[in-house]
Amino acid sequence: MNARAIFLSVTLLTLPAVLLRPALADSQDSVKLFISVDLEGISGVGSPLMTSTGGKDYEIARQYMTREVNSVVAAILERISGADILVNDSHGDHQNLLHGELDPRVSYIQGSIKPLGMVQGLDSSFDGAIFVGYHAKAGDPDGFLAHTGSGSVKGLWLNGVEVGEGGMNAAFAGSLGIPVILVSGDSAATAELGQLLGSETVTTKTAETPSSARLIHPDVVNGMLQEATQVALDRLGNNDFDPLDLGSPVEIRMRFASTTHVDVLQSIPGMSKIDGFTIRYVARSMDEAYRLIRLMYRFVSA
Ligand SMILES: [Zn+2]
Repeated sequence: MNARAIFLSVTLLTLPAVLLRPALADSQDSVKLFISVDLEGISGVGSPLMTSTGGKDYEIARQYMTREVNSVVAAILERISGADILVNDSHGDHQNLLHGELDPRVSYIQGSIKPLGMVQGLDSSFDGAIFVGYHAKAGDPDGFLAHTGSGSVKGLWLNGVEVGEGGMNAAFAGSLGIPVILVSGDSAATAELGQLLGSETVTTKTAETPSSARLIHPDVVNGMLQEATQVALDRLGNNDFDPLDLGSPVEIRMRFASTTHVDVLQSIPGMSKIDGFTIRYVARSMDEAYRLIRLMYRFVSA
């Protein structure tokens, strides 16, 4: 035992136990994870009514949604007890999760008036992002309730890459150097995002038609989520994920359902019209692109 070791052992023996805890903490305790939660891709949700406030069994869908987040959170904290987890409600009016039943160890963002929508709260201090309950991009014939942002959007391309909500959110995370480590949702969503991002995936259902689904029981899905979270954390520890970095500037091309939408958007300086249904805009950064896209589909109606 050298002099430093002797000093340390004496110091450790004399310090109160409470002071020892930070020194003995697992190095992964500083891990920070962001969870964005949509509703269409949650297990047990197999009809459009379940995803809309006041619809039949919407209250049950909220319970399933909360439980899936809790499964992921439990798996994270079982592994990394001091992980810092932020959950962002990301469906409809962003007021869906049952806060009283949500794991109390997470921070939770509720409400939809936020410029960064589904990625509100995500900044460069995070180590990884997780998307729970996601759906495929607009127009995917194999998707359950597939759409991008709102029904008014028929297609979205960022620097030539066609993306839906998952891809757009991943590009925002990627611009901050953050990888998406886990995605859950219907089979079209996990195929789309697994391929684009290389994330771990959990498939919760398969679309029977665009608005009906062949469901996997929530108990089964919650088990799969816990296992996939463990694998995702292993891979994160091994630096086995690449953030989706589309570079800057970011060329936005967005195709709408109506020509009126495109005409109204011409009021935004720098906006150009490619054809009757499609606009083009070059944003300086992904942050600027994200805010503008959200504004265009959510707060401009035509
Ligand atoms: Zn949604």
